[in-house]
Amino acid sequence: MMLLATDLDGTFLGGSAQQKQNLYHLIRNNPDIKLVFVTGRGIETVLPLVHDPLIPNPDYIIADVGATVVYGKNMQPVASIQGDIERQWPGKFVVRSKLTEVSGLVTQEVPQQRRCSFYYDESTDIEQVQQIAESLGCEVLTSAGKYLDILPKDVNKGTTLIKLLQHIGFPEEQVLVAGDTYNDFALFDTGYHGVVVGDSEPRLLSSTQEMPNAYHATAAGAGGILEAMEHFPAFRRYRDSASDAAVVATRESKQLLMVYHRLPFDTEMKDGKSRRIPPRSPNGIIPSLLGFFTNGRPGIWIGEEASDALGEEQGLNPYIDREKYPNLKASIIPLPKKDIDLFYRVFSKEAFWPTIFSFINKVKFNHEHWRHYLRINELFASRIADEAEANALVWIHEYNLWMVPAFLRQQRPDVKIGFFHHTAFPPADIFNIIPWRRDIIGSLLQCDFISFHIPRYVENFVDVVKSHAPVQVLSRVNAAKQFLTYSCALGIDQMTKLIRVGDRTVRLGAQPVGVNMQNIQRIYTDKHTKSRIESMRIGTEGKQIVLSVERLDYVKGPLEKIEAFGEFLDEHPEYHGKLELINICTPPSQGMKVYDRIQHELEQAVGKINGRYSNLEWTPIRFFFRSVPFEEVISYYAISDVAWITPLRDGLNLVAKEYVAVQGLQQHPKGALIISEFAGASVELPYAIRTNPYDLNDLKSSLLTALSMDNAERSMRIKRLFEIVKHYDVQRWGQDFLEGLENSFQDTGSEGSSSSETL
Ligand code: UDP
Repeated sequence: MMLLATDLDGTFLGGSAQQKQNLYHLIRNNPDIKLVFVTGRGIETVLPLVHDPLIPNPDYIIADVGATVVYGKNMQPVASIQGDIERQWPGKFVVRSKLTEVSGLVTQEVPQQRRCSFYYDESTDIEQVQQIAESLGCEVLTSAGKYLDILPKDVNKGTTLIKLLQHIGFPEEQVLVAGDTYNDFALFDTGYHGVVVGDSEPRLLSSTQEMPNAYHATAAGAGGILEAMEHFPAFRRYRDSASDAAVVATRESKQLLMVYHRLPFDTEMKDGKSRRIPPRSPNGIIPSLLGFFTNGRPGIWIGEEASDALGEEQGLNPYIDREKYPNLKASIIPLPKKDIDLFYRVFSKEAFWPTIFSFINKVKFNHEHWRHYLRINELFASRIADEAEANALVWIHEYNLWMVPAFLRQQRPDVKIGFFHHTAFPPADIFNIIPWRRDIIGSLLQCDFISFHIPRYVENFVDVVKSHAPVQVLSRVNAAKQFLTYSCALGIDQMTKLIRVGDRTVRLGAQPVGVNMQNIQRIYTDKHTKSRIESMRIGTEGKQIVLSVERLDYVKGPLEKIEAFGEFLDEHPEYHGKLELINICTPPSQGMKVYDRIQHELEQAVGKINGRYSNLEWTPIRFFFRSVPFEEVISYYAISDVAWITPLRDGLNLVAKEYVAVQGLQQHPKGALIISEFAGASVELPYAIRTNPYDLNDLKSSLLTALSMDNAERSMRIKRLFEIVKHYDVQRWGQDFLEGLENSFQDTGSEGSSSSETL
């Protein structure tokens, strides 16, 4: 049994990264060690530490130099002790008003309770302060030659610790106190075993010199505490049983671990059995991610698979395509189908999806499901820890795996962790409704590089972190190099590139996913596509075609669009018989009940308009409620006069960029792109017509603008957009992310070099 009552800054949080890791590991692995943080900080600034996955959770926290004492598990006050302190405290307004006259005293604007903290200097008459404090029933504590606290009489770190030990009935001889500045002196004054860690304030060293219970360690911070555990026989057994983690070799690793919920396999039925085959579809980001392994780079792709789908290879790491990627293998996490459904289709879609897109009235939080989410994230982290070689690069995708960095960093401090968000990232007052927000942010801060589609999401993330812990912004860049600033809803002029939170430095990036240009070009020039486009053109002759392609999701605002289209037809009879909306709507995966209602409403809305206007020659809305093969989607892009992309929210929207790509490949492009201001891609595409999908009038007027735009203007706009889309394609996106991760760093205090073109 042991109780470590330790100061934080310079003590428990001080020392080398390796010493801290060893001490934290030792505490985590010995549940009979009780931990008490005893700090001069206010409780608000201790909270982020409690949610830092590397730091062991304290059983109690004594904050405000002894004036606050709370339970570590719920931050509630230990009422019997704190109540007494509260009664003695005259209140901050009284204290400050009495001290305004004293020269050199400046209020410290930091969170604090039941005490007032100031800076002082050589002009300050400490005796005068003492007299005033005494008249208020308080006392003065100075430390480090510049900090001065007014506290209720007899309240300090030591007296509150004594009361706490009495409260919990802990034997005094099993207590070790640790500190490094003079305001820790009271801890040693208790007579308990104590360690003054290396590099301590000289005044603390001299005042504890003669104390038989106080050991002066050589090592600073956490190293000093470990040293003291060896020095005092009462704690030596913990050191004997501890095996300090070895320092990991510092060589660079080329190994890349892709951590993505989807595995890069296709399945094929043969003789009534399903079997995996190398990926066939060249669409989407998977082929581009695989592209990193074509030059023989060693790698592991970690993803999950329904355990009932696994064949004989269970337990083995299969190649994905040995010829193309000779050093890449898959590492498969088998999960029962019901677990996968709960993880993706229920919990993630009910708790995170609506929060990410600011639809908070649709949010459902279920704590049991969260525990399930944690277990799956832990499985991913353990698998990465097993597979990664020293200093490997780990690229984690998507919010489903937000908690992986927390579990992974505990096991593998050496690996470089990068995280890409394929969705939006909401503002702080939306994100913070998540009951587990502190755990998620604590986990993300274990990454070396975190990337989002656009600067607005980066800034939203930084705001979230700022509402959680003090953030030092080390570097900012102008967004205008690649993105719009003031002209649309998601625009922003500057973006944070590097932050420091506690002892972690995290690099941030804005890297919008691009289209697979090579693939689109290949499909577009294929003779089958050409002939399909030809016959589609004949079938739609004499009509202007407006195209909408999207997954069925309230986030995409499908109803708002149909309503706007109906009103447009009501108001513009000149377009009757001449305008068609092709609405391709992909159904959600099976089992997602949240979408049943919107499907019903959408079908009704479409039916109403078609019922009203259709005749033998004209159906105003052609509604396809099914997934259309990508080759066919490309043909629709080619024949459409307008792409009407109007999501209420969208992380990026690839459809908009694909439309530009296909139009740009045509000899005489004449398509017009309308894009919602709330789709991430809108800030990349300055020549598009932007619309606010929350405003029905704006939806209709943007459609009219696009339909009535002359061909020369359309052609010029598409050509300009095409240059952008072609330049920042999916290859460049992936390369950029990897450079961002490789150039990230820890603990050096200076920014890594970047050849990256993006922000
Ligand atoms: N897509 C498709 N068939 C369809 C509908 C969509 O192949 O019937 C493709 C579309 O071309 C695009 C992707 O699905 O590549 C949708 O990406 P986007 O970013 O627009 O939307 P998300 O579904 O990721 O929110």
